[in-house]
Amino acid sequence: MSDLMEKIVSLCKRRGFIFPSSEIYGGFRSSYDFGPLGVELKNNIKKAWWDEMIKNHDDIAGLDASILMSPKVWEASGHLSAGFADELVECKECHKRFRKDFLEENKCPDCQGELTEPRKFNLMMKTFAGPVEDEAAVTYLRAETCQGIYMNYENVLNSMRLKIPFGICQIGKAFRNEINPKDFIYRTREFEQIEMQWFCRPSRINANSARLVSRGSLANKTRIEEWGTDEWFEYWKKERMKWYLDLGIKKENIRFREHVKDELAHYAQKAVDVEYKFPFGWKEIEGIHDRGDWDLSNHSKYSGKDLSYFDEEAKEKYIPHIIETSGGVDRSLLAFLIDAYEEVKGARTKTTKASKEEEIVLHLDKRLAPIKVAVLPLVRNKEDLVKKTKEIYQLLKTYFICQYDEVGSIGRRYRRQDEIATPFCITVDFETLKQDDVTVRDRDTMKQERIKINELVKTLKEKLEN
Ligand code: ATP
Repeated sequence: MSDLMEKIVSLCKRRGFIFPSSEIYGGFRSSYDFGPLGVELKNNIKKAWWDEMIKNHDDIAGLDASILMSPKVWEASGHLSAGFADELVECKECHKRFRKDFLEENKCPDCQGELTEPRKFNLMMKTFAGPVEDEAAVTYLRAETCQGIYMNYENVLNSMRLKIPFGICQIGKAFRNEINPKDFIYRTREFEQIEMQWFCRPSRINANSARLVSRGSLANKTRIEEWGTDEWFEYWKKERMKWYLDLGIKKENIRFREHVKDELAHYAQKAVDVEYKFPFGWKEIEGIHDRGDWDLSNHSKYSGKDLSYFDEEAKEKYIPHIIETSGGVDRSLLAFLIDAYEEVKGARTKTTKASKEEEIVLHLDKRLAPIKVAVLPLVRNKEDLVKKTKEIYQLLKTYFICQYDEVGSIGRRYRRQDEIATPFCITVDFETLKQDDVTVRDRDTMKQERIKINELVKTLKEKLEN
């Protein structure tokens, strides 16, 4: 593991972001638990994505489908066949197993031993529903959340009185029996997806009616002519890149990579990965796929239920095509953490000892920061100061996720907050007792300003929303 990754993993454990699962039993490979700060960060990422989809787009509806579904779903989707399988090879010497496409050479990367011939390994996680473990009870943990969306395509269309084009978005857990889970939370067997499926006209339909579709965010409405899959694919590529950049990912650390024909997933006509520059290389954090009519056609065929759509403007019946944006909460969380991580040499916060040490600052976007405000008494051995600080803490915690901390020098406490990305530290000092104001310290600039207590909530709200 690279130096930087080791530092990130250690920070995550030390400061309560991410712990190895079942640690007292020696851990369980590829499973991680999100600690008190990790779950806040994860929730903030999910909220930022949900807001982006639901608040910024008039024509996207939300869904929360079940993880367990009829096994027929996975038959129709192609996940039970060779299409959803990786090639597994095993070292004849040390018996370690690897995904063939991850190997640079045709020998064991650990002991240089000879490898077996590759065999297909299906990634679906099998389980049994009910008390009898026979063939009839076999089902699967979902390998992608989008199948639950396809199952509800018609329910949402009809209940919400939607018209094509429209989207359905969902956040939820997915499971894949990965051969080589690795790189901390980058590749695990259980992970969470943020997926949006956009149902639209196939590009071949070029209706004469030239219906105008009102499109875009409420704040930025543009009127465009009828779009098919090609245009929507480009539209969603841009939208998704904008989301990552807006939440602070540095431009030089993110890029698109188009799939060549023979690497396309079994359902995809066209695919582009959003890749992040991890310490272990450029890797996918989100896939944008043109799934054509693969899903709804197959589900129509296998279920016998006609899922075609009658387009009143085009006066044509067709199976809607799908553009999907399929991201991962865990992978983007890791990218946000790495991108925000900075080590500052020397005395950033001017604590006596710390001046010789490195200081860590996480410059997470304020919307993502797990703790928004830390409330600190200047010293802890003055009763009236501590009492006042606790009053302010009680006031603020009804509005923001806050932390109260009185242990250690004030410089050390600032460092602790910088390390977990807290955007603002409120310090209650002796002046506070005389003039009812506090200092507000900004994590990134370290500037401090005095704010009246009765204006604190308003000021912090403005600063956090800005
Ligand atoms: P990879 O090629 O890395 O195995 P994929 O192309 O199979 O990924 P998709 O099927 O496109 O991945 O899944 C969409 C998103 O779900 C990915 O971009 C990623 O963020 C997330 N994801 C997929 N597999 C995993 C995994 N094993 N662990 C964590 N996140 C995952």
